[in-house]
Amino acid sequence: MLFKRLLLSAVSATVALAPMAATAAPVGAVVAQGASDEAEAYAGPRLVVTVVVDQLSANLFNQYRSRFTGGFKRLIDEGLVHANGFQTHGVTETCPGHSTVLTGMHPTHTGIGVNFSADDATGEGRYCLASEVNTLAHGQITDNGNVGTELLKVDTLGDWLQVQRPDSRVFAVSGKDRGAMNLAGHNGRAFWFTKGFGLTTFVRPGESAEERLAPVAQYNTRFPAAEQGQNWKANNAYCQSLAEDIEVVDGTFKSVVPPQNIGFDGSPTQDEETLKAATYLLQSQRLGQGKAVDMLGVSLSATDKIGHTYGTQGPEMCEQLMRLDAALGDFLSELDKVEGGVVLALTADHGGADIIERTHARGFPYAHRASFAVVEEANAALRQQFNLDFDPLQRGSSGLRIVDTQKRALAEPLRSQIARAAVPMLDSKGDFAMVVFRDELLQDPIMETIQPEELTVRERMRLSAVDGVSADLMTALKPGVATGGRLGGNMSAHGQPWNYDRKVPIIFWTPHAAGQERFMPIRTIDIAPTLANIIEVETPKLDGRCIDLNLGESPVCPVE
Ligand SMILES: [Zn+2]
Repeated sequence: MLFKRLLLSAVSATVALAPMAATAAPVGAVVAQGASDEAEAYAGPRLVVTVVVDQLSANLFNQYRSRFTGGFKRLIDEGLVHANGFQTHGVTETCPGHSTVLTGMHPTHTGIGVNFSADDATGEGRYCLASEVNTLAHGQITDNGNVGTELLKVDTLGDWLQVQRPDSRVFAVSGKDRGAMNLAGHNGRAFWFTKGFGLTTFVRPGESAEERLAPVAQYNTRFPAAEQGQNWKANNAYCQSLAEDIEVVDGTFKSVVPPQNIGFDGSPTQDEETLKAATYLLQSQRLGQGKAVDMLGVSLSATDKIGHTYGTQGPEMCEQLMRLDAALGDFLSELDKVEGGVVLALTADHGGADIIERTHARGFPYAHRASFAVVEEANAALRQQFNLDFDPLQRGSSGLRIVDTQKRALAEPLRSQIARAAVPMLDSKGDFAMVVFRDELLQDPIMETIQPEELTVRERMRLSAVDGVSADLMTALKPGVATGGRLGGNMSAHGQPWNYDRKVPIIFWTPHAAGQERFMPIRTIDIAPTLANIIEVETPKLDGRCIDLNLGESPVCPVE
């Protein structure tokens, strides 16, 4: 016991003197005695890495499995591969999907039901992680405006970890603010790329931008040069063979690498830079090198932008996945060097579909662009029925709002009366598979989801329903029906409750373990309790469950 205490003193001194102490989390690097005793006994990995590949559907992962030679191949050969992973909920968008990964909760409980909603009182758009009090560290209001984690209603693995082990540090980096913030949680450090600056973050009242940016200040000095270098060339003969012309709504889409008008966020360069930034944080902060358990979140956004802009089945996505595979390989090699040991989880925030015209041509004649004529018809009928001089149904990205001429929510009881009248006009009509009044859906129970494939569409949508956030009328388009499709805009989409949008890979990995395939479905909400068990962190009651990984000497899950 005496030996142990002496050892702990030495450890505390080392931590306090380490060069990264100045940039450690605000809670500080001083090791509380109780936490130290625990840390001393702890034999698990000292670094948890969470990788979210934005829009990497299980379909896409399976399609390219045999072609991977880099990081994905290592994850497959050395990891526990669940090709049947699920984002369980119905509104399969980026912010909700990211919110499930480290909270262990469905969006109905994280409060992040959609990417964009609207303020009922003002009619103005509201971003999923908008903040009324924070500013942005780069000093301008850009991208999604002022952001923060106040609208994320639950804590994350990193938050639990930092309460239970105050010397732990939590970082996340992404191309998107919502990718980084959902993985960093309330108390971690989230960084994301913003145009012309490099990595930025949010600044809470009383904090300084300089202090908040300190962990990435040196990285940012070299970033603008990297932003210029898109360097998207045709490297892979197989990918090149996928080039073709596709007739879309308003012309011919030329699917070829390199595409025209490439931006940083729509090219493989963005993910390569994100992984370099993650490596920079890993090394400069010496994550996983001390007695603490640290966390590093990495959300890779380029697959999503490339999927939206060029579809999933062309040379663009092919080249993206080959480049990401190589960059991931370099990143895993850096993780091999982490002396304290690493456990990594990789998944996606949602899946996605291909350009619907290409799907149509490949044997699915029902695949087509959505028509919203039934909404126009319903608006005309509702004007008459309720004696209105305006259209009460307004289309948003994730459903229909019931609004006045200023786009503000209609007052009750008129709002509910219109909603109940509108549902039979729209549900299962036209291109809608389902239209449901949010307030009624919120009365449904939350179903047990151990078999996520078996949930009804309504049960899936229930897991996305958030009061005051989800659309008044939550909608699902029929399978194979998509919005967009105009040249220069989004060619393909996600967001629907079908498995091509819900099914994602979930891989757990530790360096040089023996790979294993697991075919039963698991859910992204299972990741947080599983990782928490590995690093011996207690969780509150969660929607997800702990899964036994049997990685090395990892502890088994507690019996429920
Ligand atoms: Zn996404």
